[in-house]
Order: sequence, then C-alpha cells, then structure tokens
Amino acid sequence: MPDKTAALNIWDLFDIPTIEEGGVEAYLKTILLRCAGWFESNAASVFVAEADGIIRCQASIGTSISRTATITEGKGIAGSALHHGVAMIVDDPKDNPLLANHIQERRGDIGSAMVIPLISSGRKLGVLNLARNVSDKPFNEQDLAKANTLASNISLAVANWQMIGEIKSAHDQITTVFNLLNVAVLAIENHEIKQRNPEADRLLGRFPYETILMNLPASFAQGVNEAIVKAETGESFKGQKQSENVTWTISSSPLPNGGILLMVEDISSTVSATQELSRVRRLAEIGQMTAAIAHEIRNPLTGIRSAAQMIAHAPEQTDELAKMIDDEAIKLSDLCDQFLEFAKPAEPVFSTGDLNVIAERLAAVHAHEFEEAEVQLTVEGAQHTLVNMDKNQVEQVMRNLLINALQATSKGGTVNIRIFENGFEVSDTGVGMSEEILSQLFMPFFTTKAKGTGLGLSNCRKIIEAHGGKIEVTSIPTRGSRFWVQFADHLRVAA
Ligand code: ADP
Ligand code: MG
Repeated sequence: MPDKTAALNIWDLFDIPTIEEGGVEAYLKTILLRCAGWFESNAASVFVAEADGIIRCQASIGTSISRTATITEGKGIAGSALHHGVAMIVDDPKDNPLLANHIQERRGDIGSAMVIPLISSGRKLGVLNLARNVSDKPFNEQDLAKANTLASNISLAVANWQMIGEIKSAHDQITTVFNLLNVAVLAIENHEIKQRNPEADRLLGRFPYETILMNLPASFAQGVNEAIVKAETGESFKGQKQSENVTWTISSSPLPNGGILLMVEDISSTVSATQELSRVRRLAEIGQMTAAIAHEIRNPLTGIRSAAQMIAHAPEQTDELAKMIDDEAIKLSDLCDQFLEFAKPAEPVFSTGDLNVIAERLAAVHAHEFEEAEVQLTVEGAQHTLVNMDKNQVEQVMRNLLINALQATSKGGTVNIRIFENGFEVSDTGVGMSEEILSQLFMPFFTTKAKGTGLGLSNCRKIIEAHGGKIEVTSIPTRGSRFWVQFADHLRVAA
C-alpha cells in the first residue's frame, strides 16, 4: 500500500524528477506512487501511446497489469475516456452513459475508479487510471478536479518527452548521413572545430583548428585557408586544388549562427577518369588526322611525281615544272607544320589576364574585315573578368571563333562576343549548322570551306581543355550559332 504521507500537499505531486533524469518509466512510476498516495488509491496505472500508435501500459502499482497490456481508443473504460477526452469516475461502468454498450461488467476487486485522459494540444497521449478497493469510499468530484489538474501537467511532460524523442531520432538520422558522407565536413566557430565527420578525419587528419593546415600539402593548406577566410567575411567559396596526383574541391559558406561550414572532397578519381578520356580522345583524333594527312599528302605528291616525269620528257619546261614542284612541296611542308602544331600539347603558360581586354583588342584588329563584310560586331563586357590563363592561347581561341562566325554570317547579320565571369561566348546570326556538321565539328581537318584547314575548332578545344574548361555549341540552321567557353572554376581570379 503506498505511503499516504508521501504527498500531503497536492503541490508535492509536482515535485518530481524530470523525464530526462531517469527516463520516462522512472518518471511515470514516481508520478503513480505520488498520485496513489494523495488519492488514497491502492492501484494505479498509466498508459501512453508509443511511436507505433499503440497505447501501452508504461507503469503500474498495486495491480498486476503487464507491461505489454494495451488499450484501444474508444474501447473499454480507459479507451472511452481517451476517445471522449473526458475524465470520469466509474463506480459502476454500466451506469456511465459514455461507456454504455462497451462495458458489460465490473472487475470484482476494483471499487471506485478514476480514469483521466492525458491530452496535450489536442494530441491524445494516454490515460491515467486510479482505483480504490471495494471497501473504500468512492472518488468524488473534488478528487476528479484535482486529478484533472495533475493530468494536464503529466500530459505536458509526456508530450515534451515524445517531442524530444522525435528530435533525437531526426538528429540521429542526420548524424548517420553526416558520418557516411564521402565529403569532409567541418563546422567551425570562433576558430574552433565544433563538428567533423569521419571523412574530414581521413582527408585532413584529426587535428585541432590551430594545426590542421600545417599537416596538409602547401597548395591544399592554401586553398583551405582561402575558403575559411572567405566564409568568415560572409561569402561562399568554391575552388579546386591539386597536389601530385590528388585533386580536391574545397568549398565553404557562412552558417546562420555565425560559424562557417567547410567542405572538402577528394575528386582525384573523377579527374583521372576525365584525363584518361581526353587522352583516349586525342589518340583517336590523331588517328583520324593520320588518315586525313595520308589523303592530303597524296595530291601534292602526285603533282610532284608527274612534274618530275615531265621534266625528263620536256626539258624546255624545266623552270615552270620546278616552280610546280616547289609549290606542292610548300603545301606538304605547311601540312607538316599544321600537323605538328596540332599534335603538340597546349601546355598553357598561366598568368592573370582580363577577358574584356582580349575581346576589345580582337574587335579593334578585325573591325575592318567586319566593315567590309557589312556584318555588325558587338562586344558585351562584364565586371570581374580576371582569369588565370595563357593569354595568347585564349586570344587564339576567341579569334578562331570570331572569324568562323564572320565567315558564317552574311551581309546585315550580327556577331556578338559576350564576356562573363569565367568565360565567354561568341554568337552569330549566320548560316547555322546541321546535325551532321555539328557531330564532326571538332574533328581535325573537318571543314566545309574551300580554303579551310578544319583545324581551328579542334585547336580551340585542345586549348580550352588544357585550361580545365569546356567549349559547347548550340546552333540552328539558317538562324545562327553560339559557341560557349567556360574555364575551370579555380582559374577565376577574385576581384
Ligand atoms: P575551318 O574554319 O578551317 O573550316 P574550323 O575547325 O574552324 O575549321 O571549323 C570547322 C567547320 O565548322 C567549318 O568549316 C564550318 O563548317 C563549321 N563552323 C564553325 N564555326 C561555325 C559558325 N559560327 N557557323 C557555322 N558553321 C561553323
Ligand atoms: Mg576556322
């Protein structure tokens, strides 16, 4: 029998441990002991809805209800009280209109009972049951009022506990993802690492903030430091760094609470796959070119052979035939030059340059040709267009695209160079290209022009790829074309 002196004042009932201290079971057990003492009950139990929605017995005293006992909303005394959200005294269940049709008989050992639903913000959380012996006096309305006050406090505690459980499971899920991520993630606040995932330990080592940079290769340390400094000034950062065979992308952004988030990803395998792909493609291109060269060589060679044969038979034409041989030999020699130029890697020499400046200079140099062709040339500049690049090579690319555009555009048309932060585009209102032309565009020696070399675009692509960038084309026959060049992000020079 619970100790009645345990709760002499109803407020003592609230002097209970918090759920966090001993878990919900210990909390409910203490509540039950205090309630039983205060309300002079010899039996008490509490049922709480669990995550699966089943309302299960969480604690009981003075009665042999098992921990697996459940109640169903709307069924039985407790289920009906919960369903209607009304606390009630049950002396004889058959007399209670709310319980009519549900309860046929009372349990022999239980006299008066109070059933109090636990409800918080409209959520039905469970039921508190208190019972007296058949021989004890029944509960009265005053008892019910007090029990109701108490129930709202218990409901609040249980609702909070459930909410904490939900928050915790959401947090656990996020932590699992955080830990499995193959991107190193560090949350830094006031020069202190507050959070780090296993990938961060693997890539950067498990060092404190002060020494983390010292343990990295110089270029990585520099990149990470740049990312931290940028985020500290409230801006996001994204860059790429390489050291020997390892390539990282490093990014950072300020966090709403004042800290910063640093992310590092090892993209070496992607980079090497891309390099391998570009190497294989170049080999294929050289293969195509060899075939094209064999074809190109045949014509001048045939010319040279027949001129040589003619010299033997018509010595009076020697001068003329010698000139023919020389011309053909020059063609062969040019072909060799072009081949060598194409076959050698681009190997850019990097320095900071302004894309606007290159575009303006080209526009000035070629203004006369555009005037003659009556094609309008416009340049749309942009701010912050400093890029780390080989200026001569980039000028060569822009010039190739500009001249192609001019050659494709007839009188009255327009060619536009537009510069943006890490690249540029050259568009024209010219003839455009069919699917068939587009599919061969970058092949060495592919040309549709009588005097074309077909090497311009393949050279452009070689140069841009050596800058870690890409070149893309869109074109509509008879409407025009647009060549779009973008450099690798890390080549951008901050303004
Ligand atoms: P070339 O200019 O010597 O022909 P390129 O490699 O520069 O060699 O160009 C290959 C082919 O791509 C051109 O012959 C032409 O058919 C097509 N082309 C390139 N640029 C354009 C353009 N702006 N509009 C239409 N066709 C183009
Ligand atoms: Mg060209």
